[in-house]
Amino acid sequence: MNLVPEIVALDAEMRDWRHRLHANPETAFEEEATSRFVAERLRAFGLDVHDGIAKTGVVGVLRNGASNASIGLRADLDALPIHEESGLPHASRNAGRMHACGHDGHTTMLLAAAKAIAARRNFAGTLHFIFQPAEENEGGGRVMVEEGLFDRFPMRAVYGMHNWPRMAAGTFAMRAGPLMGAYDVFEIVATGKGAHAAMAYQGKDPMLFAAHAINALQTIVSRNLHPLEAGVVSVTQVHAGDTWNVIPEQVVLRGTVRTFDPDVQNLVERRMQTLVDGIAAMFEMRATLRYERRYPATVNSADETECARRAADAVVGTGNVDTNPTPDMASEDFAFMLQKKPGCYVWLGAGHGDGTPNLHNPRYDFNDEVLAIGASYWVRLAEQELPVTA
Ligand SMILES: [Zn+2]
Ligand SMILES: [Zn+2]
Repeated sequence: MNLVPEIVALDAEMRDWRHRLHANPETAFEEEATSRFVAERLRAFGLDVHDGIAKTGVVGVLRNGASNASIGLRADLDALPIHEESGLPHASRNAGRMHACGHDGHTTMLLAAAKAIAARRNFAGTLHFIFQPAEENEGGGRVMVEEGLFDRFPMRAVYGMHNWPRMAAGTFAMRAGPLMGAYDVFEIVATGKGAHAAMAYQGKDPMLFAAHAINALQTIVSRNLHPLEAGVVSVTQVHAGDTWNVIPEQVVLRGTVRTFDPDVQNLVERRMQTLVDGIAAMFEMRATLRYERRYPATVNSADETECARRAADAVVGTGNVDTNPTPDMASEDFAFMLQKKPGCYVWLGAGHGDGTPNLHNPRYDFNDEVLAIGASYWVRLAEQELPVTA
């Protein structure tokens, strides 16, 4: 392990920041106090601070030397609507809100990196420290891009990091190409004709539509996709009916689709429409499909993945960096930044044994042991990509 000394010196302060953020979680676009916490510190470290981007987003700008080189490093600010069950002294004080994805740790590591890099002044160019709101569900990263993030703050490439409890602490993983899946949601509404359940022949039973549709949707992945392509179709909600003896008028199905490849995504949507129309016709009723593309796949560029690998190697050593991890079908709105700029999103190992609660679990807590590892990675990456040359 080759940690940056200025980061090691910040370890106690990082833990304090992290616990304060953890105790005061705020969800999508409401990260007012978190945003102030970040902006105040960035100003104190001497950065040029721009807040109010995508409502609660913050960008800290740090320049050194005459070089025009520039990159962005990104962390996320938001918590989740989960009731925390960790029982820890720094557990959430906001009922029903919890830092269950470790964004408190991500924010802390990027803040510490800003402080250390500002103190070391061992780079030439412009660094953008991007703190985005609403990573969970609401696409704060997309809103920052739409509000001109890359026009206001020109940068060549952008980098992201997420703690990964299923990998051991002291490791990193990244790969060129897709690392996280595209996140789509769908809603199917089938409208039949309600009837007395004892006189079913007088109605058009939407329950039959639901039964056939749930089965048929599973044939998209198993029968329409190339076996080496990846996709997930999950029906997660079925809503219909109120009592024993009434055939309801309507059934609503909702769920999610995950893919890596836009062609596969298009295929799934097209087949879903065909199946919905076909099953509705079969049972002589109407059905609509609303298919909404939320987050694209998170796709790393080859050159920047190599940059990330070198920086991770410099901190934890080659043997602890996995450059071919199995991608995950969870999704990440850093994907919107990677659609505009080359870059790399890495996983920071954060596991501490078999029982480590995973992300989004009510007993999850960011592993403080990896704060210095992640923050050192940011420092190494920034100084490596914006080198001071003679
Ligand atoms: Zn999450
Ligand atoms: Zn997250």
